[in-house]
Order: sequence, then C-alpha cells, then structure tokens
Amino acid sequence: MTHTTDVVVIGGGQAGLAAGYHLRREKLDFVILDAQNDPGGAWRHTWDSLHLFSPAAFSSLPGRLMPAQSGEEYPDAGHVVDYLADYEQRYGLPVLRPVRVDAVRPEGGRLRVEADAGVWSARAVISATGTWWRPFWPAVAGREVFTGRQLHTTGYRRPADFAGQRVIVVGGGNSGAQIAADLALADAELTWVTQRPARFLADDIDGRALFDAATARRRALDAGAADTGGVASLGDIVAVSPVRAARDAGLLKAQPMFQRLTSGGVEWADGTTALADTVIWCTGFRPALSHLAPLGLRGARGHIVTEGTRAVGEPRVHLLGYGDWIGPASATLIGVGRTAREMARDVALLLTR
Ligand code: FAD
Repeated sequence: MTHTTDVVVIGGGQAGLAAGYHLRREKLDFVILDAQNDPGGAWRHTWDSLHLFSPAAFSSLPGRLMPAQSGEEYPDAGHVVDYLADYEQRYGLPVLRPVRVDAVRPEGGRLRVEADAGVWSARAVISATGTWWRPFWPAVAGREVFTGRQLHTTGYRRPADFAGQRVIVVGGGNSGAQIAADLALADAELTWVTQRPARFLADDIDGRALFDAATARRRALDAGAADTGGVASLGDIVAVSPVRAARDAGLLKAQPMFQRLTSGGVEWADGTTALADTVIWCTGFRPALSHLAPLGLRGARGHIVTEGTRAVGEPRVHLLGYGDWIGPASATLIGVGRTAREMARDVALLLTR
C-alpha cells in the first residue's frame, strides 16, 4: 500500500523536528520518517563526556527553550536526547520509527519515497538525515597494513576502553580535540596529530559567538559585501572545559600529520615512528544522502547543488541541516530553526502554486 501526503521529511533528529514545527505552522500535511528506534538523532550515539558548546538557552529549537540541566551550564548529550523526545511529543509531531528510507524517485508528477516499512507518495520531500551516519575515512597510505584497531569518532565512547593503550587521535576539529582531551586526562598514552597546527578559539567564545559569526557571514554575502570568513575565521576548536583543562596542563600538543601507517604504528615523512595500539580517525563526516541518488542531483563536483535549502535540480526536494552551505549554522540546534522556517515557507509556496 502507498501512503499519500503533501510532504515527507526524512530524518527525525533536530533538523527533522524543526522542519515539522514549521510545516505544521504552514498547515501542510506531512510525516517524518526516522531510521532510529528512539528520538534524539545522532545525540544518542556520541561519547559519554560530550557536552554542548553552548548553554541550554542557546541550544533551542523553535517554540520551546531547552531547559537548563541541573549542575551543568553546558548540557550533555543525554539532556539533548531528553529535550528532543519531549519536543516531538509536546508538538505531537508525526514521527514514524523505525523507518529507513532507501530511495526517492519521481513518479507521475509526485515523488515516491521507498522505505523498509512502506512507500509514501509526496508532493515534496525534505531530507534531514544529518552526517553522523556517513563518517569520512581519509585515504592514508598503510591503513590496510596496520594490525592494531582503527575506529572513527562514531565508534568512540569513553577513555576507559583504551586504558593502558598507545592511542593516536587524528584530527584538529572539535571531535579530535575533545577525544584527545578525554584520553589525555585518563590512563592512555596519547599522540594527537592534526593536518595543520591546532587552532583553539579564545576561551570566552562558545556556540553563541559561532552562531553570530555564521549569521554575519550570510548577511554580508547576501548584501554582496566581502566574505567575513564566518566561523572558520575564528578558529577550529571550542575550548570546552575538558579541552581547556588538558591544554592548560600541557597535555594537548598536536603533532603534524604522519605520512603512513605501518603494521605497528605510524611513520612521519622524516622517518620518525610511533607505536600504536589504536588509531582513532576524527576526520569528519559527509552528508548522508544516498537515498537521493535516484534523482541524479549531484553536480560536477559530486555535491548536490542547492539554492538555500532547495535542490537546484529538483525544486520539490529540500535539504535541511548538514552544514552552513544549507543555511547559516543550520547544522546546529540554535541555527536550524531559522532555516527550517524559510524552507517551510518555500515548500508551502511551491505546493499552492
Ligand atoms: P542527526 O542528529 O544525525 O539526525 C538525523 C536523523 O535521520 C537520525 O535519527 C538518523 O537515524 C535519521 N536518518 C538518517 N538516514 C536516514 C534514512 N535514510 N531514512 C530515515 N532516517 C534516516 N550542534 C550544536 O548545536 N551544539 C553542539 O554543541 C554540537 N556539538 C556537536 C558535537 C559533535 C561530535 C557533532 C558530530 C555534532 C555537533 N553538533 C552540535 C552539530 C549538530 O547539532 C549535530 O550533528 C546534530 O545531531 C545534527 O542534527 P540533524 O537532525 O541534522 O542530524
């Protein structure tokens, strides 16, 4: 049986919920299909010590402030999961779980959404599937000869799992710095390597300032002014308290990137080597968009080209979340609401035409 609706939202993390909030305000008929068993999106899967880089009040979706977490200025991931679960319940958002969408394709003037739990026919589709599900592993020589363990950020939970081990953490972003700090402050022998020298943001800069920088950049670009550089101009690593503690204790000294892995460790270009039991690749993510492949939306550089959230090659398809290329700070809790509002208006306009 095929279900029929105006809009299918794929993904029920924060971006999917923000989309639902604004689609409801536009009085559109919609359903949210989410592959997880429970609410919370990627926040269910992060490492134990992860805390938000903004206070609760600055990490809210549209309509409902995130409550403060007792004893924590910067809430932990569990608190975000609770907030998202409460959010979808409070607004009665129509989230179906677990439903994994495999493909979206055009069918007779509508879009056919094929999932493991059925088929939906929609007039528009919003993809809000995030990036956590598509970890990026760089092509580094020797990865196949290393006999130790290799994992990605997505596989890391807690330092106790690496007690007494020699661990190499690769990556100079927030995940790399936080996981390196976690291990440095525990009982592991850490080597932290980064592609370029680690760039810590000033200690008083948190997610609020990053949101402001992303917004200022978008305004400047929209007004035809010079690119302010946005968030990237400020640095890469938010000095959340464990990172600050490890850095101030002299435990977070980044080495340059090694040239290759060997069977027992890594080797730099000058011949220096280090032994390792485990390599943790904190090397980022890519948008999880394989379900859109049948629409053939990828441009010459392999990306889906968008104008705001709308796919240029298929105006009935919108992307939400993912990164600043979709909307300023749209891959953050505080930022996604504004982009979702503009997107819902755009979808409503399309459907009334
Ligand atoms: P997700 O949370 O990944 O949700 C997507 C949902 O879609 C998931 O439930 C997934 O199962 C589902 N899905 C995927 N594919 C399919 C499919 N084919 N069919 C059906 N469902 C599917 N942001 C902040 O604002 N503050 C922070 O402090 C912060 N810290 C971060 C720390 C880390 C380590 C990371 C990685 C990100 C952080 N972010 C932070 C960024 C961002 O807020 C999160 O990545 C957030 O999870 C993105 O939400 P999302 O809804 O776009 O994606």
